[in-house]
Amino acid sequence: MAKSVDDLTSDEAGSPDTADLVAREEQVFGENPLEVRESDHYTHEYVGGFVEKWDDLIDWKKRYESEGSFFIDQLKARGVRSVLDVATGTGFHSVRLLEEGFETVSADGSPQMLAKAFQNGLEYGGHILRVVHADWRWLNRDVHGEYDAIICLGNSFTHLFSERDRRKTLAEFYAMLKHDGVLIIDQRNYDSILDDGFSSKHTYYYAGEDVSAEPDYVDEGLARFKYTFPDKSEFFLNMYPLRKNYMRRLMREVGFQRIDTYGDFQETYQEGEPDFYIHVAEKK
Ligand code: SAM
Repeated sequence: MAKSVDDLTSDEAGSPDTADLVAREEQVFGENPLEVRESDHYTHEYVGGFVEKWDDLIDWKKRYESEGSFFIDQLKARGVRSVLDVATGTGFHSVRLLEEGFETVSADGSPQMLAKAFQNGLEYGGHILRVVHADWRWLNRDVHGEYDAIICLGNSFTHLFSERDRRKTLAEFYAMLKHDGVLIIDQRNYDSILDDGFSSKHTYYYAGEDVSAEPDYVDEGLARFKYTFPDKSEFFLNMYPLRKNYMRRLMREVGFQRIDTYGDFQETYQEGEPDFYIHVAEKK
């Protein structure tokens, strides 16, 4: 029977059926993982075992509670109807948007993530997700139409390792928005990780019980995170540590006119304090 997010318990995340949809593959980082600094590599990171575990990491029910209606309020305040979720992952925000009545298209560059998202859509509310397999850098090739809003959430943009790829991606997002559209991108507070070391309250995105997400290695060009699960399995993500003001500058240079940055869903915050920043960038 279809469930809503409210009915969820952490134990129910994932199902044996989904496992069949997701190809069994191991993460591959090669002999020197610290040298893996490529925008293409995410497709080797979000594979079989890790995709199956992702919902334990983010815990849909807790995430639903901690985010509250932040994104929904941002979208509704701007009269948004159509949304392109470019980093669908396992579908948390796409399902939330569909529940709220937004016309939603769900894109991602990882086929395993999209398979899991489709399954989750059916499971949590009986939603048929409109999924599109697309890499952001060539988004216009695979996704058509214009949208009132684009969301890129869950610290996803950090997977781009060159400035050229970041600029290209932002330009693709810009082009796919209507003239008064809005882009919402979030990111970890890498400034604080780079400058002061890591300390996370784990209150927001990665809220799963007994799951740890912490930096394994950090320099100005790489933040390698290790994710450890109760069954002792370990997975890694290699990411580029975006500084907040650099990210804001890039969005401005691509053409966004107004950029508001929130810390952990609050308008005012002390530097160093939030785990995540959320940029709301308006095209008009
Ligand atoms: N938004 C989801 C969430 O919050 O749970 C997923 C976040 S996950 C950290 C990042 C997602 O971005 C993955 O599903 C990955 O496949 C996708 N991704 C990373 N780089 C991409 C690219 N260049 N093009 C398309 N998708 C990409």
